[in-house]
Amino acid sequence: MINSCPPHCGTPTYLSDTYCPICGDTLDEKRALNNVQDLYPDAFNRLKAHYPNAQLITGQITKTHFYKRTKHTKNNTNSCALWFLTVESTDGIQYRFNVDAENKILVNLKVGDVITFAEPYAVKVPMARDNNTPDAITNDILLDAVVLHTGEGQFLQHVGIHQPINPIEKIITYYFFALLFAVILGGFITLAPHGLNFFKGNFWISVLLIGAPALYFCHRKHREFSQVFEDEKRVYQSFLDILPLMQGVSLTDLGYHQKVRPKGNDDILCDYCDHRLSTQAHYCPHCGKSQHNNETDVDTVIVDAMVASHDGELGAESALMTAPSGENVVTTENIVMAHAATATLAVEPSVTVKPRRNVMDVIHAKMAEFRYDHEDKIIYRHALVPNEELKVTAWCYMARVIEREASVDINRTSVTTTTTRTDRYGDKDTSISTHHTRDVSFNSKLLMRTELGHEFELWLPEKMRSYTDVGDILMVEGVKLEDKSGKSHYYNPHYLNMTKKRYNREGSNLGSYRNKPILPQLIQLSLALICLWGFIEIEPQMLAIFHQWAWSSALINHLGYTIFTALLTFVPYMLFCIVIKWLDSRSRDWYKNEAIRIYQPVWALRDKALDDIDELHDLFTKLN
Ligand SMILES: [Zn+2]
Ligand SMILES: [Zn+2]
Repeated sequence: MINSCPPHCGTPTYLSDTYCPICGDTLDEKRALNNVQDLYPDAFNRLKAHYPNAQLITGQITKTHFYKRTKHTKNNTNSCALWFLTVESTDGIQYRFNVDAENKILVNLKVGDVITFAEPYAVKVPMARDNNTPDAITNDILLDAVVLHTGEGQFLQHVGIHQPINPIEKIITYYFFALLFAVILGGFITLAPHGLNFFKGNFWISVLLIGAPALYFCHRKHREFSQVFEDEKRVYQSFLDILPLMQGVSLTDLGYHQKVRPKGNDDILCDYCDHRLSTQAHYCPHCGKSQHNNETDVDTVIVDAMVASHDGELGAESALMTAPSGENVVTTENIVMAHAATATLAVEPSVTVKPRRNVMDVIHAKMAEFRYDHEDKIIYRHALVPNEELKVTAWCYMARVIEREASVDINRTSVTTTTTRTDRYGDKDTSISTHHTRDVSFNSKLLMRTELGHEFELWLPEKMRSYTDVGDILMVEGVKLEDKSGKSHYYNPHYLNMTKKRYNREGSNLGSYRNKPILPQLIQLSLALICLWGFIEIEPQMLAIFHQWAWSSALINHLGYTIFTALLTFVPYMLFCIVIKWLDSRSRDWYKNEAIRIYQPVWALRDKALDDIDELHDLFTKLN
């Protein structure tokens, strides 16, 4: 067993360290993580003897993706919940595979968890799929045995995919068919009209004569199958023997407790490489630079003092030059005193120890840059009715996932369909079929904390749920609109996962709010009715009036009485409708612009977050 990380200068060192944090020396001892294979080489060799391609890998989860896989058959639709994991082994090799997520413990798997998995057979060829999309499932390997190593102990999940199958059912089938064969053949030759005379009337004797060799054959098969089963069981036992060993290995045995230093809330950032360090560290374990900024600062202070004293000297000298001779005689002592005085004056303000940058402060300050909370009013201008004043609140902020409570819900439903068909003779044929559906859904409740220490619960849209981990920092933005009646409307809570560099584009927009007052619609309807009434009732009088003039008289003769009256009554109505429509679309445009005005600062912050996403991602990953 390799001692993963010996202490240096009496302080623990970690695998991620290159330099001793106390003396600054390079740590060149052989340091590595252990894995179950190294810890139990004999058991692994026994497994290899039976399964030459067997794998026993220990590693840390670097990526999780939750998804469901659905299988359709004629009468069933079955979905199961799976994790598609990317695991980096202790040797730095990346493995990708699926783990059953319907287990209460495994559903809470997260990035950083350490697992060991055992596979008796070689991992098959990956599925041909696009590897570039972030959620691509590149293979369908379901692991047979997985152990999750936690600080509180180990959890084993053994699916038993490769478990040898007991041949008893197969043997029973053999016996059954042998008997059936004997009875049928026996019956056939006994009853056959031109059969063998010897067998005539001796049904049981013929069954016995034919059955005996068949039974012997079955017995032989029975022994053969049982032997194979026993052999398979013995071979599989070498795999089963590994499982308790895997389960007995703790995080400490593996050396993962020494992989990275446990984080402290007062950790600081290295001034040279931005690596996260303990306040106790004299040297950065990552770049090896001294963290006592006095050492570098003292030099500049001395230089400052020298420059200052030089200035002082010049000043004193010029005073001496300008001093009228004989009166105030300036002695050398005075010059020295003046020199000392100016020097101290100049040095004092520059002896400021550069403040150490606390990691949490730096991250919180960054998160605070994206905080926006603004209350405003929007006037919704209406045609014909008074304008509407809407109270609008827009916000955005960043928050960190500090806990995730995940579970999988399983829903089973069956639908029974009865189909009745009538054939051409009028007979009814009824068939009943039942379709069973098993569906799964992933629930995860997140506990979030903002830089101000405010905690709240959050339920993300389904797509984001599947990849948001504990420790991720999300940017949340949203808008609330309160209408005249005091009813609140919420629009597009948008989320940006800064740690995963992924953005959720779902959600509705504030601009989609619409309130159509009833009054203009009523006026429109009444006007339509009035016009209709006018058309029917006043046609003769109208015609009498319009016949007075030659032009209108000619128009009436040209169009005919009915069309002329229809035009006369419906044209004003149409004009009214067009005006109303135009006013309405104008007020909508105006409202939409107002909505954009409200969103602008939030969008500006979102753009800023997207522009700086790499930098923010690097800073925020220091948290985990
Ligand atoms: Zn040291
Ligand atoms: Zn450094």
